Amino acid sequence: MSKTLVSVRNLTKQFTSARGGVKRRVTAVSHVNFDIVAGETLALVGESGCGKTTLGRMLALLLEPTSGELSIHGQNVVGLRRAQLKPLRRHVQMVFQDPVSSLNPRHTVEAMLTEPMQNFGLYSPQERREKAADLLEAVGLAPEDLKKYPHEFSGGQRQRITVARALVLHPEFVVADEPVSALDVSVQSQILNLLVDLRETFGLTYLFISHDLAVVHHLADRVAVMYLGKIVEIAPKDVLFANPVHPYTQALLRSVPSITHSKGRIGRILQGDPPSPLSPPSGCHFHPRCPHAVDQCRSDPPELSNHKGDAQHRVACHLQDTVA
Ligand code: SF4
Repeated sequence: MSKTLVSVRNLTKQFTSARGGVKRRVTAVSHVNFDIVAGETLALVGESGCGKTTLGRMLALLLEPTSGELSIHGQNVVGLRRAQLKPLRRHVQMVFQDPVSSLNPRHTVEAMLTEPMQNFGLYSPQERREKAADLLEAVGLAPEDLKKYPHEFSGGQRQRITVARALVLHPEFVVADEPVSALDVSVQSQILNLLVDLRETFGLTYLFISHDLAVVHHLADRVAVMYLGKIVEIAPKDVLFANPVHPYTQALLRSVPSITHSKGRIGRILQGDPPSPLSPPSGCHFHPRCPHAVDQCRSDPPELSNHKGDAQHRVACHLQDTVA
């Protein structure tokens, strides 16, 4: 049986908004629960602003949760001090959306790849150079590229460098936040295939954040669907694509037959914009856009529960037995 690598329980993140001079607490991520087992890819999908990047940054240890638990190998990291977190940072890395802004234009590739090893006191300078050269080859670049600067590479090559940098400390868990959405369509599949290959080569576990369902279908083992800070459905990929239960997931999946036209992107398939997290709707946050909403939906927030007894397929909808 596969081992749980990452576990989140009631994970919540609130920010303070000072819009219009009035301070308010905004809940970006609310009471999220799931496990990720070693070696799997969990995709996190949802419209822009649903909280998926905030959740990803918490799992990458870049953002401190407000409450709840985030455990890596069974150790809850919430509340740990910076020095206590440092050893864990080796095991958790993040690949960002935009390779241009995530690479320092004044540093050579060698400096960017060897610096994390140096920070952790790993290896001699010569060994660090050799390991950096090996990693460049693993991501499809040449050892000679170590001496170059980011501007000397194409967008796809720059994303290969950010992937190499994420792997330099041999992490077990990688959060990839829209890693291909800033790239030309022609190179997107190359980077996706690279991520698949690296998962096998390095034994990686991914949280893969995307609003592109075609990409998710290509890469994920399981899919979690997020709406206004909450997970509304989570299931193995094949189950979710074949039998979406939550009305929001059903709306997302309706875009799949037209993937070639819309690139499977979420955002133009539902009526109206998602509500603001500053004033979320009462009850089920989805009720203003849901074609099935009843009175209960406007007052009671639905909790995730097993769909028809299947612990692998969990849905947060009062009418899940009738809308499926
Ligand atoms: Fe729609 Fe009600 Fe289900 Fe929410 S709980 S998705 S409003 S049917």
